[in-house]
Amino acid sequence: GWRVSQSILLLPGDGIGPEIIAEARKVLNVLQRDHALDVTLEEGLIGGAAIDATGEPLPPATVQAAEAAAAILLGAVGGPKWDRIERHLRPERGLLAIRSRLGLFANLRPALLYPQLADASSLKHELVAGLDIMIVRELTGGIYFGEPRGIQTLDGGEREGVNTMRYREAEIERIQRVAFEIARKRGGRLCSVDKANVLEVSELWREVAERVAGDYPDVGLSHMYVDNAAMQLVRAPKQFDVVVTANLFGDILSDCAAMLTGSIGMLPSASLDANGKGLYEPVHGSAPDIAGQGKANPLATILSLAMLLRYTLGRLDLAERLESAVGRVLDRGLRTADIAPAGSTTVTTQEMGDAVVAALST
Ligand code: NAD
Repeated sequence: GWRVSQSILLLPGDGIGPEIIAEARKVLNVLQRDHALDVTLEEGLIGGAAIDATGEPLPPATVQAAEAAAAILLGAVGGPKWDRIERHLRPERGLLAIRSRLGLFANLRPALLYPQLADASSLKHELVAGLDIMIVRELTGGIYFGEPRGIQTLDGGEREGVNTMRYREAEIERIQRVAFEIARKRGGRLCSVDKANVLEVSELWREVAERVAGDYPDVGLSHMYVDNAAMQLVRAPKQFDVVVTANLFGDILSDCAAMLTGSIGMLPSASLDANGKGLYEPVHGSAPDIAGQGKANPLATILSLAMLLRYTLGRLDLAERLESAVGRVLDRGLRTADIAPAGSTTVTTQEMGDAVVAALST
């Protein structure tokens, strides 16, 4: 029989996007050539680059390619060049549009501190050394999307701002299931974060979490109020394995957890739909201040590719091989400027990518 190989859509975007995606492409090419990775690579336009070429941040050709692809690897979008355009035509709109278009409701943000970089954290070495948390954030519901919303004028002329936090049981259940599945493959512990002491929507969140837990006897479920979770994240972050939470709470907690690692150039992310299709991207932006200078750290993008191999393609072997290649490059002392101690020698974007490629084959 024959089979069609899966396609991966590369969306370089703006700023440092093309430089870091070029390094990920090198890695992909080696995996195709030497490690039996059966995928085809496509490339598309998004963000400012798409605006310049077509007049819109998410052209129809990109939407089509994204719908056909098994997974998407994105660099970053945005930059000063496009900051004066009307809001609905800005580069960032392209990213929001593709996320909602594809129904990517589960946002995975690992906060993993490579021991070689423990001194980059603002917390004490012993609090963060070996840190490995996964934050699962609900991405398409909650207060960021709930109706009614708006600013209304009351009788008497005073204005009132309104947003609504609402979650249906099915929305809670599907994000909980994603989190339980991940916890099952990691340390087997899931902490569901809510505000059930004040919010009814959180009361329902907690009830659904307990119900789903019945299907995962191998995972230990605990609950924590979001204010306490913020405190615990900086007091004793290693107590967490997987954290699952609503859109607003996850937005804040995942940035807090990211900073525990101290290096934005190292942080990958994934956003998944119900079938494991995903958009993978570094947490950082397009870094216009260093674009085109070979200074960008490509590791957040390369580690996003490792997540793609694990979560969409199910190639745990290659994901682990790639992550350990990154570890060995750090062991050798190679550092781009963002993760180098002041005054030490640094490597370029390309040199870092080449080193990962070389480490893959050893
Ligand atoms: P940024 O993440 O682009 O940059 C913040 C700082 O971190 C800068 O000093 C930058 O040089 C540095 N940095 C970021 N990534 C790096 C890397 N890989 N290696 C080395 N250093 C790195 O955030 P910003 O400056 O607030 O935003 C710049 C542009 O990016 C804006 O247009 C913003 O809208 C956009 N943005 C896009 C995304 C995205 O595409 N997902 C996310 C955030 C911001």
